Amino acid sequence: MFQTSIAGSLPKPAWLAETQKLWPQWKAQGAELLQAKADATLLWIKAQEDAGLDIVGDGEQSRQHFVHGFLEQIEGIDFENKITMGIRNGRYDAQVPQVVAALKLKGRVHAFEAQLARAHTKRKLKFTLPGPLTIVDTVADRFYGDKVKMAFAFAELLNQEALALQADGVDIIQFDEPAFNVYTQVAADWGVQALERAAQGLICTTAVHICYGYGIKANLDWKETLGQEWRQYETIFPALARSTIQQVSLECYHSHVPPDLMALLADKDVMVGVIDVASDDVETPEQVADTIGRALQFVPKHRLFPCTNCGLAPMTREIAVRKLEALTAGAALARLRYAETGVLA
Ligand code: ZN
Repeated sequence: MFQTSIAGSLPKPAWLAETQKLWPQWKAQGAELLQAKADATLLWIKAQEDAGLDIVGDGEQSRQHFVHGFLEQIEGIDFENKITMGIRNGRYDAQVPQVVAALKLKGRVHAFEAQLARAHTKRKLKFTLPGPLTIVDTVADRFYGDKVKMAFAFAELLNQEALALQADGVDIIQFDEPAFNVYTQVAADWGVQALERAAQGLICTTAVHICYGYGIKANLDWKETLGQEWRQYETIFPALARSTIQQVSLECYHSHVPPDLMALLADKDVMVGVIDVASDDVETPEQVADTIGRALQFVPKHRLFPCTNCGLAPMTREIAVRKLEALTAGAALARLRYAETGVLA
């Protein structure tokens, strides 16, 4: 009951990359960089295990950014000539690569870190990939001229990599779709379908993470404009409930998401965000258990997985470790509190 995991990313050590940045520069090159990525991956697996997480991941130590890490291994993308583009409906500007020809995988994308992680933990292993809608929102299109067509082209490539990750021994494959909360109707109209294409044929557990973004200023300013009730999930969840995706990761603690929207997820597993990634204040076990208690009014306890609201990448290592510990301490307290008395069976 209440198996714990994180959304995905963790801070990169200062010897691997610039710290507290979303698009950090690497500190080494070639073989030295590869070794540094491997060392950081092992360090975070150990830290997640020490903190008591039930499901661990590679902390996304081998990718510069959660979207561009995947794109770097795709033919048809020009990484040399990045352009500045407003992303997430113009919320902030990013340097994005351009799609200039038909898309094709150059080979495996994440074999190195996935196999390394698998070889060094006996716990359940979750691996994250960007979702198709979020990818098309984070590249400039100079070839397809049609968002849906391009999203399904990316979905096909994601599917190839996801099937290979499953063969590597990954237990859970999670697609990150923060763009769903920006383009809610698009997500319901075809975003979920593109996601299902990316997950097609997988027999491991499949998940989607939908958040309100990392704790950076542009996102905090955006949240200020969303009013007292954040109802974006209301448009997306019914489509997800009808989909083949098994788990949904959502933002809860310190958000203005009405908790009753979780009831729209029918029989899905729900990864409830009980840790705020936009604040360095470390949650107490009581606060975490209280959030779990609120979610239990709408999610049965055997389908509730305490999680972080989003990735921890832009935080300091020290705060991130303390937040992992808060997550597991809070889940332990919730097990005591709600073992007998859980609101739903
Ligand atoms: Zn997120």
